[in-house]
Amino acid sequence: MRALIVSDIHSNLEAFEATLADAAAQGGFDVVWFLGDLVGYNADPGACIALLRSLPNVAIAGNHDHAVTGQLDPNLFNGAARAAALWTAEVLSAAELTYLAELPAVTQASDFTMAHGSLRDPIMEYLLNPDAAIATFTRLQTQFCLVGHSHYPLVWRETGDRPKGDLLDESNPPQLEPGQRLILNPGSVGQPRDGDWRASYLLYDSDAGPLGSLQYRRVEYDIAATQAKIRAAGLPESLANRLSEGR
Ligand code: ZN
Repeated sequence: MRALIVSDIHSNLEAFEATLADAAAQGGFDVVWFLGDLVGYNADPGACIALLRSLPNVAIAGNHDHAVTGQLDPNLFNGAARAAALWTAEVLSAAELTYLAELPAVTQASDFTMAHGSLRDPIMEYLLNPDAAIATFTRLQTQFCLVGHSHYPLVWRETGDRPKGDLLDESNPPQLEPGQRLILNPGSVGQPRDGDWRASYLLYDSDAGPLGSLQYRRVEYDIAATQAKIRAAGLPESLANRLSEGR
C-alpha cells in the first residue's frame, strides 16, 4: 500500500495538482492521507475539496477549515488569513461547508495517528519544540504520528530525555525502524514557510522493508497562476506575495 501524505493544501489547486502528478511519477499511490487545512489563504477552495474527494482518502480538519465553517472564530486569525476565511465561507456551497465541518480532528491509518496540530491540541497547537513533541509522544498510541499546521517539513525522533527535531531532507528521508517512534510533518502543499516555495509532501510505501519506507519530495508548480487567481478574487496581495518567498 502506498499513501501520499499531504497537509495544508490551502485552496492552492496548482500546487495540489502538481503534487499529485509528481507522486504519480514516483510510482503512484493508493490513498491520500490529508492532515488538514484544505482551504484558506488561496483562491480555489471548491476545486481543492472536489479534487481531494475524487481520490481515495483519509482526511482530518485544520484550523482554517474550522474558521471557514464557523467552528473556530475567524477573529483569532491575522487580517489576511481572516479575510481569506470569510471569502471562502462566502464562495463555498452548503454541501462543501458541511463536508469540511464533518472532518474528524484525529484519526488513524495503519500505524499512523493523524492530527493537524498535535495530539495535545489537534486543531491549534504548533508542534515546533521538544516540549510539544513530548506532549504528543505521551499521548501517541501508534508508532508514528503525522501532523501539519506549522507548514515546516519536520521529523521528531523520540531519543533519550528530549525528542530531537530535524527539517526533512529530500536526499535523506526519515527511516522507519522498529521501536523508533516518530512525529512527521510533510510540510505544506499550498503555502510552504521554510523558505522554499515548492510544494512539499511525503510518500509512504508500506511494502518496502519491515515497517515500510518514506520518500520526501518538493515539487514546482505554476505559482503565477495561483497568484493571478488570488488577485482576481480580491484577496489580500500579501497572500500572493508570500507564496513566492515560501514564507
Ligand atoms: Zn495551514
